Amino acid sequence: MVLVRPENTQQARLVRLLRDDGPRSRVELGDALGLSRSTLTTELERLVAGGLVETAGPAASRGGRRSSLLRLAGGVRFASVVVAADRVRVAITDGELNVRAEADDAVDVRTGPEPVIARAVELVDKLRAELGVAELAGVGIGLPGPVGVEAGTSVAPAVLPGWQRFGVRDAFATELGCPALVDNDANLLALGEQHTGIGRTFDDFLYLKLGTAIGCGLVLGGTLYRGATSSAGDIAHLPLGEDGPACVCGESGCVEAYCGDAGLVGAALTAARSGPPGALAARLAAAGTLTVRDVAAAATAGDPAAQAVVRDAGRRLGRVLVGLVSFFNPGIVVIGGAPDGAGHLLLAEIRSVVYRRSAPLATGTMPVVLTDLADRAALVGAARLVSEHVFTTH
Ligand SMILES: [Zn+2]
Repeated sequence: MVLVRPENTQQARLVRLLRDDGPRSRVELGDALGLSRSTLTTELERLVAGGLVETAGPAASRGGRRSSLLRLAGGVRFASVVVAADRVRVAITDGELNVRAEADDAVDVRTGPEPVIARAVELVDKLRAELGVAELAGVGIGLPGPVGVEAGTSVAPAVLPGWQRFGVRDAFATELGCPALVDNDANLLALGEQHTGIGRTFDDFLYLKLGTAIGCGLVLGGTLYRGATSSAGDIAHLPLGEDGPACVCGESGCVEAYCGDAGLVGAALTAARSGPPGALAARLAAAGTLTVRDVAAAATAGDPAAQAVVRDAGRRLGRVLVGLVSFFNPGIVVIGGAPDGAGHLLLAEIRSVVYRRSAPLATGTMPVVLTDLADRAALVGAARLVSEHVFTTH
């Protein structure tokens, strides 16, 4: 099918509603968007004629004339590509952004953009062949670290050496023959949370992404907020202390240097070498090094030194959130990427700082939660990213 784009604002709103809420009756669509019956009929007829919307059987009767359900055309397919430091993951979704197939492979981003993009395109093509997808409506791409969304390039030499200013968006658009958009992984996770997670019920929320790199996605008034140069939410290198641990950015004492995976491991190594014998020291002696999984496992098993490392990171993240929450007044804070098993310990410490130190008006009813989405969230977010672009008027 050749994808027809919405011709006007009403059509764009209809299509996005069907994307987000699934099949709906005419009455429900009219109520949700406040459209008159005649406008609704006209625009839906055009969307159906163009092939972007189709009827999906009868709606439950509300009395009177039976109406039919409408839904996004069953043939709409988006592709998602999420690049991490050591892995690329891809998916094909339908128009409602349900993942229909996914695949992944080990890559090393330090080899530069060309081989990684080539592998991602191969994986997408393999899924297209399996699903019989002739044409993609668009591809959304996530990269770790800061992304210049306007230019469609990475601007993160520390995370992606060799990718600086490389035209990632244009490469995918050319290879896959469809519109492409690139954003950073924290923003994709926020979009995934907005589509299928607890973010569905909040117009204003903040997504804190932990892990190797730390970032923040900010949804304000129902829309992802990127700022003037698409670096809003890039909190990785906020300074927390001049004499803190060295950071990949060349400074010291950054949020990421303390609370990123490498920061947790660094603090755990120090504790294991200098503290009393315990699970961390035993693990270090056995393996010669520690990973963030070791830290989380030791903390979960009750090792005091490992728990202190996690709590310390939680307190620091809590202080960062106190500032962000008082400034943006989100309805909820969602945290993703916490080390497996140590999330609740980390969350407890974050909450205690946030609730103790923030203004009551800002946090009185504001939940701070761990995401309950599995790791498909970024793939869904990537599809949502490009769908926002496709399902708009041009
Ligand atoms: Zn830094």
